[in-house]
Amino acid sequence: MKAEIIAVGTELLLGQVVNTNATFLSEELADLGIEVYYHTVVGDNPGRLEQLLAEAEKRSDLIVLCGGLGPTDDDLTKDTVAAHIHRSLIQDEQALARLHEFFTFSKNKMTENNLKQTLMIEGGIAVQNPTGLAVGTLITADETTYLLLPGPPNELKPMFLQNARPLLEELFPQAEQLMSRVLRFYGIGESQLVTELKELIDTQTNPTIAPYAKPNEVTLRLTAKISDAAKGQALLDSLEAQVMTKVGEYFYGYGDDNSLVKVTVEALKAHGKTISAAESLTAGLFQSTLGDIAGVSEVFKGGFITYSAETKEQFLGIDHKLLEKEGVVSEACAIAMAEQARKLADADFAVSFTGVAGPDELEGQPAGTVWIGIAEKGQPAFATLQHFNRDRRYIRQSAVMKGLDLIRRAVTKKK
Ligand code: ATP
Repeated sequence: MKAEIIAVGTELLLGQVVNTNATFLSEELADLGIEVYYHTVVGDNPGRLEQLLAEAEKRSDLIVLCGGLGPTDDDLTKDTVAAHIHRSLIQDEQALARLHEFFTFSKNKMTENNLKQTLMIEGGIAVQNPTGLAVGTLITADETTYLLLPGPPNELKPMFLQNARPLLEELFPQAEQLMSRVLRFYGIGESQLVTELKELIDTQTNPTIAPYAKPNEVTLRLTAKISDAAKGQALLDSLEAQVMTKVGEYFYGYGDDNSLVKVTVEALKAHGKTISAAESLTAGLFQSTLGDIAGVSEVFKGGFITYSAETKEQFLGIDHKLLEKEGVVSEACAIAMAEQARKLADADFAVSFTGVAGPDELEGQPAGTVWIGIAEKGQPAFATLQHFNRDRRYIRQSAVMKGLDLIRRAVTKKK
């Protein structure tokens, strides 16, 4: 079972857009036990796409195409694939009904070219698009299967997961299934994690362990290839237990779609606790990050952005004598900010950030110097000193991640 992915779009060739769809699709196909042999990108050009299809059908059983399903003239994927396999395009009634519904609801005027998005290839299975208007097609012709998906990742992903993946599972059943589990770690770098787990990684063949580093976190994917699901789970449980004995203190959660902020918000919810924040260095980034999580209003009371010394005094009521004596980038300032934010918002917890985003130094302290304060009702507040390197953006993001981890640990700490 050989597959390949063709991304269609001149914007990809120009370097304006990164081909993240190929990454997502490759991971998903691997998870289905389908091996991907080629990734190609082709511009919005029917001649070159046709040439590529002619090559691809010789070497692949499954060709997944993404992009070019939209309403405009340069959206040519459907027409080109249909012509290649000598089929015509037909109306998909479900997609047409959705299109009418969309324009009735939005009160925008529907232009004629939108109808193009509701066409599918004759003889295929329509793949509905839960977040967009362009319908996809799954079709087999001359022993090659074609799956056509739209370009925007926010359409392609739900469409693949909800509608295309089950169809592929049915079409290409695997004797052995791949079962995987993703473990997420914060506070340990990839090189240290891999060093700690070296023996396990070197000796493990089934399940396998694949580390993946992202900014400020590392994930481990444990994958078992097995015909019996219960045995697969047992293998993953046992490997996870071995991993945890070595690096468990850095583990914060499971799953591809998880994040430190989600886990922190869940922990606050589970313990019935609320949070506030006072931000200098991060200028609202922590609170904005919380705001990304649906349902955060249950735990987030609101907070403060106090960028200057004056607003630290005005908004939080911090004594200017403290600021003059200790400086704004100081343990005392971080503690006072966190305590005041917690009290003023009447929250159970508060976090504060004060530091030097750079590139210039401040109060004689180098860029990347960050104090993070944590206040908890009924407990003495404290602050921790961090040194982050790289640019302003990274320093501020790293501070937010550390703040989340400190809160998560404080909330879940056994009292
Ligand atoms: P639309 O209905 O939006 O026109 P489409 O299926 O025609 O959808 P394209 O026009 O090819 O899709 O791409 C729309 C946008 O989707 C691109 O501008 C780009 O931002 C994003 N996109 C397209 N292909 C990819 C890809 N392979 N990886 C990541 N993003 C992509």
